[in-house]
Amino acid sequence: MFDQLGLIGCGLIGGSFALALKQARLVKRVVGYSKSPSTTERARQLGVIDVAAPSALLAVSGADLVLIAVPVAASEATFKAIRHGIADNALVMDVGSTKRDVIAAAERGLQQQLSHFVPAHPIAGKELSGVEHAEARLFVDRQVVLTPVESTRRANLQRAAQVWTDVGAKVVQMTPEAHDAAFAAVSHLPHLLAFAFTNAVAGQPDGSQFLAVAGSGFRDFSRIAASDPAMWRDVLLANREQVLLQSQAFRKALLQMEALIASGDGKSLEEAIAAASRTRAQWQLPAPDAPAND
Ligand code: NAP
Repeated sequence: MFDQLGLIGCGLIGGSFALALKQARLVKRVVGYSKSPSTTERARQLGVIDVAAPSALLAVSGADLVLIAVPVAASEATFKAIRHGIADNALVMDVGSTKRDVIAAAERGLQQQLSHFVPAHPIAGKELSGVEHAEARLFVDRQVVLTPVESTRRANLQRAAQVWTDVGAKVVQMTPEAHDAAFAAVSHLPHLLAFAFTNAVAGQPDGSQFLAVAGSGFRDFSRIAASDPAMWRDVLLANREQVLLQSQAFRKALLQMEALIASGDGKSLEEAIAAASRTRAQWQLPAPDAPAND
């Protein structure tokens, strides 16, 4: 049981983590801080946090568990702001969707306190942001990727794995590089495509008429285009190298399929579709009933 969670970023993911800890009776009190006082106050009214702190530093003072759940571009300023308030026994984690940039920010921001830090990325979420959408069960049966660095204290890595397991998640460990390469392929690229595709349809002269007759194919493909713009701006820029590599691989595959359509090569086109269909049929999300973002 933790005495105090210091939560920086009382939004969807941070709020869900606080609620999950409370539901599992793993924490005595949650002290929260968000950039806007109105967000922090809303989190308090909703019972997500118990105490609203006026600064990140005060939120972590006395905390034996710290969660940083801010957009990834705000990580460095947050690490710097909390450095002098981290207790000797504190475990510090983030939840950012990219890991190499957050770790570099932690190295600059936390300095001698880096051994407290365990980088984490829950593969859970939704296209709706904000504390109003926080859910205690968000992490149940979802994967959480931990990407420890050389200076991560072993005991802190074990505590991090335990707390995510205790809120129902399945913990996996990866290197930060492997994480960013994998999630560029299976998360960042799909979001990029959903944004570009939706803009391409809507931006045509007849776009609104097309959208008026769209059905479940459009609904399913474009769901993640409704995601938070600032969060995804940060993710795509933070992982730009890997995202652009994946975008090139995608363009190559698209060009190949366009060529098959242009030449009327139905047999090869069907084979290409069948290969994709087999891959999709064999792939399974751990809890297939609920859509999840990452
Ligand atoms: P969110 O609902 O928008 O919450 C972000 C929170 O961070 C807001 O409360 C915001 O406060 C606060 N914030 C922003 N800048 C801050 C700063 N400089 N200092 C303190 N607080 C600040 O976003 P989210 O979906 O929870 O995302 C949070 C993190 O989780 C991101 O790093 C994202 O990459 C990661 N993640 C998201 C998902 C997903 O599906 N959404 C999944 C996995 C991981 P204000 O309201 O005052 O601006």
